[in-house]
Amino acid sequence: MLTTPLTRSDWEAKAAAIEPEGRAFIDGRYVPALSGKTFAKASPIDGRMIAEVADCGADDIEAAVKAARAAFEDGRWRLKPPAEKKRILLRLAELIRADLEHLALLETLDVGKVISNSLSVDVPFCADCIQYYAEFADKSFDEVAPTGPNDLAIVRREPLGVIGAIVPWNYPLIITAWKIGPALVAGNSVVLKPAEQSPLSALRLGELARQAGLPDGVLNVVPGFGEKAGKPLALHPDVDMISFTGSTEVGKLMLRYAGESNMKRVALECGGKSPHVVLADADLDAAASGIAWGIYYNQGETCHAGSRVIAHASIKDELVRRIGEVAATQIPLGHPLDPAAQMGALVEKDHMERVLSYIDIGRQEGAVVARGGNRVMAETGGYYVEATILDGVRPEHRVAREEIFGPVVAVTAFTDESEALGMANDSIYGLAAAVWTKDMNAAHRLTSGIRAGTVWVNCFDRSSLATPFGGFRQSGFGRDRSPHAIEKYTDFKTVWTAYS
Ligand code: NAD
Repeated sequence: MLTTPLTRSDWEAKAAAIEPEGRAFIDGRYVPALSGKTFAKASPIDGRMIAEVADCGADDIEAAVKAARAAFEDGRWRLKPPAEKKRILLRLAELIRADLEHLALLETLDVGKVISNSLSVDVPFCADCIQYYAEFADKSFDEVAPTGPNDLAIVRREPLGVIGAIVPWNYPLIITAWKIGPALVAGNSVVLKPAEQSPLSALRLGELARQAGLPDGVLNVVPGFGEKAGKPLALHPDVDMISFTGSTEVGKLMLRYAGESNMKRVALECGGKSPHVVLADADLDAAASGIAWGIYYNQGETCHAGSRVIAHASIKDELVRRIGEVAATQIPLGHPLDPAAQMGALVEKDHMERVLSYIDIGRQEGAVVARGGNRVMAETGGYYVEATILDGVRPEHRVAREEIFGPVVAVTAFTDESEALGMANDSIYGLAAAVWTKDMNAAHRLTSGIRAGTVWVNCFDRSSLATPFGGFRQSGFGRDRSPHAIEKYTDFKTVWTAYS
């Protein structure tokens, strides 16, 4: 049955009526912070308050870890028959799909991303991820090691126990699913700490998981600030692993917290400064489209956004012109509840100011603002920055080295391939990269030389749940997505039996 797509005013009416749940979700029910404190959550779309959220601290983390530990130890989830685990997780995926409009609206109001993306990407990808991992429940096998006669050595993968998942605000539902999907299917319990900027969809997931039949205590969602709620979770002696996605700076703290507490496992998905290397023979229309969408999608608030362009000097100016043209004609900035908008608001005022300050730094360093560069739509009360191109950037400039995390691409020219490879690798990060050329020999040379977790050739941001995602160097270690992600939430146990 065809339904008429909702208009901006339909979405605004829904936004006015929505009453998001802001309490923590612990041991299968919503509870206020033990201190009774809340913080006001404003929408970056227009600065208006959308929810009062529990301002959780160490006591709430303690309660959530206790519930998660009890659930793990009594085996109410871990020891369920595999087919039953699968059924529950598949039901959760279906409930997420059935809640599409509600979840999409929460995501857009919370972080300012456009509603068309929340509807077509964030919510469906979250459901698909839970479904993908559900299927492993009754299809994963342990190993039998080769031994001599009269011995049987079984190598089992066992869940770790209580997983602390700490996530950022840029793709709240997708990154949460990347963590809870593999962690839950492996039999662990989870305490999830969403970013303070984006707690609402995660809190909703708690209730959907309960409706799906996930036993109480297996998934707990504790909203709050990094220092106040994230830190006690990462330091907790009864948490077996921290699965973290966020900045490199805070990722390094996770390693310290693990060392200062119980040597818990740590998996880190951190920042990026992904380069596009565009050779002289590249298809410039394809490259311009890949580059523009790769940096302006989600307002550039994407860890692997292609924020550096390293272009051959002979085509650099034409490429810059075409990137600007794609931005102008295909990626309109607008009110996030307008279904036609492709770029929305940055997540908060401080972040917008940080992005604008980098554009100023670029200018002071000698870059030319070839497009954009300004705050716009200030009259809405929201935080919007134009799609921006900084041209004439040198590899030593801060705008070529530091993560801006906004709609700003830095363009640098090169003259020979080895210089381009050197520039691509001249970074503390190694999350992703792209190579644009028709010469497959050059493509293979560059893909083997570039240090990054994903290297695309003649495309950008194509992926599936079957491929691992994560970085080299200070972009982190451990991978989300793919069957390999399950490995990090488990460990080997050898059971050796001698028989006669
Ligand atoms: P952030 O590091 O500021 O925060 C991430 C999470 O850590 C939040 O939940 C926050 O509350 C928590 N936190 C902050 N300080 C803490 C502390 N002292 N102890 C414990 N927890 C603490 O990052 P952000 O601003 O939310 O997100 C943007 C960053 O995330 C960017 O650097 C981006 O590249 C990165 N990111 C990486 C990936 C990836 O897969 N590699 C994906 C998305 C985002």
